[in-house]
Amino acid sequence: MGDVCSASWSVQEALRIDAAILASTRDAVIVTDLAPKILAVNPAFTEITGYAEGDALGKSPSILSSGRHDRVFYQAMWTSLRQTGHWQGEIWNRRKDGEIYPERLTLTAVCNEQGDPTHYVGVATDLSQLRRHEERFQRLVHYDPLTALPNRLLLEARLQHTLERASREGNRAAVLVIDLDQFKTINDSHGHAAGDALLVAVTHRLRTRLREEDTLSRLAGDQFVLVLEALHEYQDAEIMARSIQASLETPFILPDGCKAYVRASVGISVYPQDGGTAQALLVGADAAVHRAKELGGKQFCYYTSELNVQARATLVMEEALRRALAQGEFVLYYQPKVDLRSGRILGAEALIRWRQPDGGLVSPLEFIPAAEKNGLIEGIGAWVIRDACRQMRVWRDAGLTEIKVAVNVSARQFRCGGLEDEVIQALTRYAVEPRRLMLELTESMLMAEPEEAVARMTALKRIGVRLSLDDFGTGYSSLAYLGRFPIDQMKIDRSFVTDIVTDPGAATIATSVIALAHRMRVGVVAEGVETEEQAGYLRQNGCDEIQGYLFSKPVPAEEFAELVRQGKTLPTPEAPLQSRTLLIVDDEPHILAALQRILVDEGYGIFTATSAHEGLELLAKNPVQVILSDQRMPAMSGAEFLGRVKALYPDTVRMVLSGYAELETVVQAVNEGAIYKFFVKPWDEEQLRTQIREAFLYYEGVIQQ
Ligand code: C2E
Ligand code: CA
Ligand code: CA
Repeated sequence: MGDVCSASWSVQEALRIDAAILASTRDAVIVTDLAPKILAVNPAFTEITGYAEGDALGKSPSILSSGRHDRVFYQAMWTSLRQTGHWQGEIWNRRKDGEIYPERLTLTAVCNEQGDPTHYVGVATDLSQLRRHEERFQRLVHYDPLTALPNRLLLEARLQHTLERASREGNRAAVLVIDLDQFKTINDSHGHAAGDALLVAVTHRLRTRLREEDTLSRLAGDQFVLVLEALHEYQDAEIMARSIQASLETPFILPDGCKAYVRASVGISVYPQDGGTAQALLVGADAAVHRAKELGGKQFCYYTSELNVQARATLVMEEALRRALAQGEFVLYYQPKVDLRSGRILGAEALIRWRQPDGGLVSPLEFIPAAEKNGLIEGIGAWVIRDACRQMRVWRDAGLTEIKVAVNVSARQFRCGGLEDEVIQALTRYAVEPRRLMLELTESMLMAEPEEAVARMTALKRIGVRLSLDDFGTGYSSLAYLGRFPIDQMKIDRSFVTDIVTDPGAATIATSVIALAHRMRVGVVAEGVETEEQAGYLRQNGCDEIQGYLFSKPVPAEEFAELVRQGKTLPTPEAPLQSRTLLIVDDEPHILAALQRILVDEGYGIFTATSAHEGLELLAKNPVQVILSDQRMPAMSGAEFLGRVKALYPDTVRMVLSGYAELETVVQAVNEGAIYKFFVKPWDEEQLRTQIREAFLYYEGVIQQ
């Protein structure tokens, strides 16, 4: 105001000019004293803030404060004003009606002749109009006016950003081009306004399916593009494609009241395999959506053809499984669990089969993993529990009162709550005692989240059902947790049972599991037992139960009941006739015969085998104290054979017959403790008899070496 003062004007003139400027400027002007208290405002102030002159005079300018700035902000403002006499900046203020608006504010201190401040003057430009224009401009540039979705420009920027992030974090990302099928028909027959309304409604539906980090945009007409960030598996894109298609299933109601059925084709490209740039991925997804349209629409296609093949197979499988569940195509087979001591059937493991309409029986290995992925396992798993309980009830009504049944629980079933309720409902519905139902849980699904697993297992135990730890030995159980899992049984995985007779490594795992289970005071079952030798070895090592083809394959419920009714048992070994038993192994039958002849009057029980393998099988089935083996045999040498025997049956006394040529290996085996004594061919009959007698005495602890 003083600035306007000019040497050529009188003071009066200058004041009149100042007043005119103040009255006509569109900027708000405010004059305060040092308190600060408002002394004067101009008409623009009233227009902008809503405060009349009378409202403002005598008040503090803080009546305008918006609450959006902190104390530090105001302190800095005042400090600058006091020290430099000046402050300028953008600030949020509040109008009388409460609206918050941005303004550009210049504050100046007015000083007297001594240079001391007497007043402050503030000049403020309201920026809200400008900001609104800027925003509208931004929206026009970046957003689709109809649906308010990002347009191509913004989409490309966001996609680029997504790709940079995915590359940094090692994730996948996907671009889905969504194209509405037959949209043109609706536009043509109901008019463009209807078409526009439909696009807006479709946008709303699509939005409900998105995660916060996903970007949906509209490119043109009826084409939408969806960018999926941070995908773990490319199949997640497929799940989204199907979710989008499902969201459109309910018909739309057009403004004219007609129903519109909208279907979408979706083309998917996946980062990084289908391209590293936004452009490449958009082109790929576009090509894929064209293919989906060519195939008749209402489907999705990947850009990469091999992913398409997999996706088709997944889809076909899912539909078939859904039908199977709805139409009762699943059946449970039952495999007996047998007591190794009494040989009697204790119960069964229920194993699901899929009986297809053509009569074919499909193995669970072919559909359980798929069902686990697509979530159908939850329905299937609940059915398994129900049907097993129903079967137990049928058996009980038929007089088979003590049959226990174990069912397999899948990881997803275990994780997704609801399992307890399913179990309780099934038990109640068929009035089955809880202790007769056992749930088989695998080691890997418990170790994934051990704390949660302990809680879930405890809840299941409270119902009274029993728990079994399936496939034990294949995961990496921490012993710390193992002790906390409230289990009743451990199952030794089939992979260890298969080689138990011949592979000391597998045998060690099996015997360790048995020892561990017993120390934890839980039972132990070996699964996949196919031979008497395996059963024999397990029995000798204290295993409680077995399950496997040796006794029975999984069979239909009726056949299982028949096995129980007939009282089928696993033959238990006869007590050994001879207390001293010798095993002789040689690949040449005439040598076996000769050796037997030499020992005929010694009173030993003698087993002969023509190979190391046969020898191991005999050992598994029979108690043997002394072993005499030829060194030179085709499949496995005597030293190697006896080395394995040492690991499997450490108490046995092992001897070898060797030629001079092989002595070096033999001596090494002696040093390793695999061999007690060796004989060099041709042997002295009398010496051989004596040495074998001594070997038995050594075994019996009568003599020391
Ligand atoms: P699992 O729980 O380890 O079941 C044992 C598998 O070994 C069964 O295969 C059984 O038939 C097979 N088996 C039993 N004895 C022998 C034998 O002596 N030799 C050989 N070679 N195999 C033997 P199956 O029935 O094909 O089931 C395979 C897997 O499918 C099961 O492995 C289990 O993980 C899963 N499964 C089966 N039924 C169900 C179910 O109802 N629900 C769930 N979630 N999974 C199931
Ligand atoms: Ca099992
Ligand atoms: Ca198993």
